[in-house]
Amino acid sequence: MEGFSCIKIEELEVYAYHGVYPEENEKGQTFYVNAVLDTDTRRAGLLDELELSTNYGEVCHFITKWMQEHTCKLIEAVAEQLAYGILQTFPLVHAVELEIRKPQAPIGLPFGSVSVQIKRGWHLAYLSVGSNMGDRERYIREAIAALDAKKHTKVCRVSGLLVTKPYGGVAQEDFLNGAIEIKTLLSPIELLDALHEIEAAAGRERLVHWGPRTLDLDILFYDKLVYEDARLVIPHLDLQNRYFVLKPLAEIAPNFRHPLLGQTVSKLLEAVDSDL
Ligand code: ATP
Ligand code: CA
Ligand code: CA
Repeated sequence: MEGFSCIKIEELEVYAYHGVYPEENEKGQTFYVNAVLDTDTRRAGLLDELELSTNYGEVCHFITKWMQEHTCKLIEAVAEQLAYGILQTFPLVHAVELEIRKPQAPIGLPFGSVSVQIKRGWHLAYLSVGSNMGDRERYIREAIAALDAKKHTKVCRVSGLLVTKPYGGVAQEDFLNGAIEIKTLLSPIELLDALHEIEAAAGRERLVHWGPRTLDLDILFYDKLVYEDARLVIPHLDLQNRYFVLKPLAEIAPNFRHPLLGQTVSKLLEAVDSDL
């Protein structure tokens, strides 16, 4: 625990061409940007070395260049894309708060300024991966590569693969199961959609529930989020009952605590029957 630290950029002035009206795209106007970068400054602060920190000069140039090289209709889009650009370009930045202000917006009324403000950041998620059809190891390896190749997701750690008997009483081949740690800029639903895309690319068909599959990717945890809607439940509802999920997960995240059950993954693993 290193305590809170951030870098703030205030009132960066950029002349650019964003706007809904053609005159805004042609003539341009002045925008102001405020940014708060959540980042570790402690090592840099103790050792006084720029390489250990995020160079705010470079961030200012990045913002200016990006805003001048792109033309968006909405400052919402500027904020969204700029936040992603900063998070992908400056690896020490965990999250960024951005405010884009447009004091000369052509609305035909006297006003001070109009702005949008957003906060975006990397999320830590754990996934389970399984396959019991065809070249199981290859499906899993390719899924991991596909995840890592996504612009908004990076694979951080991968467990070893475990051979297990199928679950749920449907007769079929043995499973190969693993766990994956990722960091992602996607929301939980966007992540689920991305996983379904990767499953579909592996030829996954949903014929029988718990039936044979080339590839199954489930979200186990997403930060400490507790979430449920018609399509998605986080943490995964059944993970505490599954040896084949907990065993590989304990290899990469033994001390991660289940936000509802209050137990670490390694404690949950101790409690589960290894025949499941
Ligand atoms: P199980 O979820 O019990 O492991 P399964 O993985 O075999 O079963 P699928 O057919 O792959 O089941 O998925 C059924 C639906 O479960 C998905 O379409 C998805 O909408 C939903 N779902 C709910 N929570 C999650 C989650 N945490 N991760 C992945 N899918 C989930
Ligand atoms: Ca599953
Ligand atoms: Ca699934």
